[in-house]
Order: sequence, then C-alpha cells, then structure tokens
Amino acid sequence: MNALPPLAAVGAASSLMAWAVRGRSASVFGRSVWRGPRDRRALALTFDDGPGEGTPEILEILAEYEVSATFFQCGANVDRLPEIACEVAARGHEIGNHSYSHPYLFLRSPGGIENELRRAQETIEWHTGIRPAFFRAPYGARWFGLGRAQRKMQLTGVMWSAIGYDWSRRADEVVAHMAASASNGAILCLHDGRELREKPDVRTTVETVRRLVPTLLDRGYKFETIGRLLCPKT
Ligand SMILES: [Zn+2]
Repeated sequence: MNALPPLAAVGAASSLMAWAVRGRSASVFGRSVWRGPRDRRALALTFDDGPGEGTPEILEILAEYEVSATFFQCGANVDRLPEIACEVAARGHEIGNHSYSHPYLFLRSPGGIENELRRAQETIEWHTGIRPAFFRAPYGARWFGLGRAQRKMQLTGVMWSAIGYDWSRRADEVVAHMAASASNGAILCLHDGRELREKPDVRTTVETVRRLVPTLLDRGYKFETIGRLLCPKT
C-alpha cells in the first residue's frame, strides 16, 4: 500500500503553508493586521525600505497636503541615513520596524529572526528616539519564531490591503491601482527605498505620491498613521 498522502492533500497543505507565510490576512506566525476598521473614511499610507535619499521629497509632498504616513524602516538604512530617519520622526510620521537587513525570514532560525527585529528596534530608537510598535516583514514573508519575537518586543505585524508594485510599474499604473484599492480602513503599501540599495531610484514612488494624495483627499479620505487607524481614540 502506498503510504504517501494523495497529491491533492500535499497541494492543499503546501498552499495552506504559503498562505501562512505570505497571506495578508494570516496571523499564523505572529499577530498581524492587514487593514483597519471600515466604519470611518480613513486609510493609511505606508512606505517600506527607507529611509533613502528620495525620502525627503516624499516628506515635502506629505507636508504640502498635511497628511501623516507610516514608514517601515530598515535598521541598516537608518544607520546609513540617520538624519533622514530623524526628519521622518520630526515631521510627525510614524516609524515602523522593517527588520535590520531586509532578509527573507522564511526558513530562518527563531534566534536569527529575533536578532533582525531587535537590532532594527535598537537602531531606530537610538537614532530617532522612537520605539516602533509595528513590524512589517520583508517581502511580507513570516516564519516560525516571528510571533515570539514580536511578543517580546511588543510589536504588531502589519501587512497591507493593497501594494503598489512601485518598484516595477509605471507611476500611472501604480496610481490607478492604488486609487482603485482605496476604501475605508485600507492600508496602502509603497516604497521609499529599494531594500538596502544606496541612492535608490524612487521617482515612480514620488510621482505616485504627488498624484495619489490629492486624488484620495478629493474623495474624502483622511490619511492616518497605522497606530491612529487601528486605535482612533489614542
Ligand atoms: Zn521591504
């Protein structure tokens, strides 16, 4: 008799695992949210992989429209550009943890995962005085040991309701996709860096922000940080 499970069962198990690792609504490897409540016309704009040399230009646009955002920063980029990380904080935006060196956490040891989160927490706090409350996994990939690390550092995982693919698409495509994905409680994900690259080309992201923010303001949306979106009374 064949002791191997039927192929369909293997397929189901592997797709379940893929959802646990990458699924935006999965909390299998640690508490995670992917959108806010739907009862208010508010959404959150989030940026990953910064700070980068292009971040100040994004800050200028956000200031022009007086909107707040959340920046999930990599510790290594904060070490490289601490003044820009501080400027993000000084302008009242929220800073989240996006790991130290932007690795795939998938298949990493629990100790290695904890080190990535802790080193980023300490680096961000050292340079900006802010201790992040939210964590976004690089590539949206979670793994065993992340939940424990998050609990130890009191971090809540944050995925997204829409991601812009602003590293590979044209700005008009990104704007159209993000505008169509906007809804009450949406969490929109863009990138003010490109992993750990120096001088990342974020022109598409800058152009997207320049067009997307007024479009969504015209539609009546309020821009909030993740903390405010999830917990409006704080
Ligand atoms: Zn990233």
